[in-house]
Amino acid sequence: MAGAFWVIVEDDRQGAPKKVMAEALGEAARLSGGNVEAVWVTDKATDAGLTQLGEWGASKVWLLENAAFAPYRGEVWVPAVAELAAKESPKAIFAPVTSRQREFMARLAAKLGVGLCADAVGFKMDGDKLVGTRPVYAGKLLSKVAWKQMPWMATLRPNVFRPAESQAGKTAQVEKVGAAAAPEKLKFVERREEASTGLPELTEAETVISGGRGMKGPENYVILEEMGKVIGAAVGASRAAVDAGWRPHRFQIGQTGRTISPKLYLGFGVSGAIQHLAGMRTSKVIVAVNKDPEAPIFKIADYGIVGDLFEVVPALTTEFKKLLEK
Ligand SMILES: Cc1cc2nc3c(=O)[nH]c(=O)nc-3n(C[C@H](O)[C@H](O)[C@H](O)COP(=O)(O)OP(=O)(O)OC[C@H]3O[C@@H](n4cnc5c(N)ncnc54)[C@H](O)[C@@H]3O)c2cc1C
Repeated sequence: MAGAFWVIVEDDRQGAPKKVMAEALGEAARLSGGNVEAVWVTDKATDAGLTQLGEWGASKVWLLENAAFAPYRGEVWVPAVAELAAKESPKAIFAPVTSRQREFMARLAAKLGVGLCADAVGFKMDGDKLVGTRPVYAGKLLSKVAWKQMPWMATLRPNVFRPAESQAGKTAQVEKVGAAAAPEKLKFVERREEASTGLPELTEAETVISGGRGMKGPENYVILEEMGKVIGAAVGASRAAVDAGWRPHRFQIGQTGRTISPKLYLGFGVSGAIQHLAGMRTSKVIVAVNKDPEAPIFKIADYGIVGDLFEVVPALTTEFKKLLEK
């Protein structure tokens, strides 16, 4: 329907929309009074995935299904969605912040010739115009942005917006779009999946444990992973730890790594450099453990322990186990 708020589907590549979709759909519904539609570009949608989108509030799913849409390549996806947007004139196009959507939304905005509010942390309607809020200067300031023209495009930071409540039995109308895949200039060669750690994904986790240079070596991350298993947390790292080769870059939190906004951030042996804070300062509760009482991270921490992490981590894990086993 013209004038709807669209949300681009981020899926797990197995046909299920990711949990962050509940947040993007929930926010789009709140702003549009329920006029929300999902746009799913995929090689294989599943019935369960379509049902889930309906239960999270999408009144319609525009389904662009084609074997050529996997794996994701911007130059193949963008023309298909741009053509549909030109035909259907959505008022807004949202997507959750993920590596794929960051790239896709920037390309789509360029193709449509409209502005993009990247990494939004808030929205409000000002009369009949949308105003977005996004962090700037490594998160030190928040800027308000408005769009000159529609569609209003934005990527939404995970764990910031209230997720839509799943309404059992609510269904979305599914509209299949006979989208052709654009010819490619690039040739896809190979996709390599990283082995799963068995812990939640860094940008989706409600609790994130971060280990810095104070971890002293890659072998010691096992104590953080043990804690992660007990409390269901993802384990990330500072750039110092990544640069030392202790953790792969996909685990880096900060300005040149991932931006996270979990309910709980626990930092161990992380000093709190501005570039690290840029990626985690919007966490709801920040806990820091550092042996240096002057470490800058204590300035933004809600709770701090001055101590040796090699004593504090096992002690905390033991207490978490006791509490959670009750
Ligand atoms: C352009 C640019 C981009 C950058 N991007 C990023 C980024 O994305 N992410 C990022 O993290 N950094 C980034 N950095 C690097 C950043 O400036 C810091 O160098 C880095 O964050 C420091 O990592 P750290 O806190 O682990 O190490 P350090 O600053 O060395 O801190 C280690 C801390 O561990 C404590 N410690 C040591 N042993 C123990 C112990 N046994 N128990 C408890 N505490 C202990 C120490 O007291 C110290 O505070 C960037 C820098 C630049 C210039």
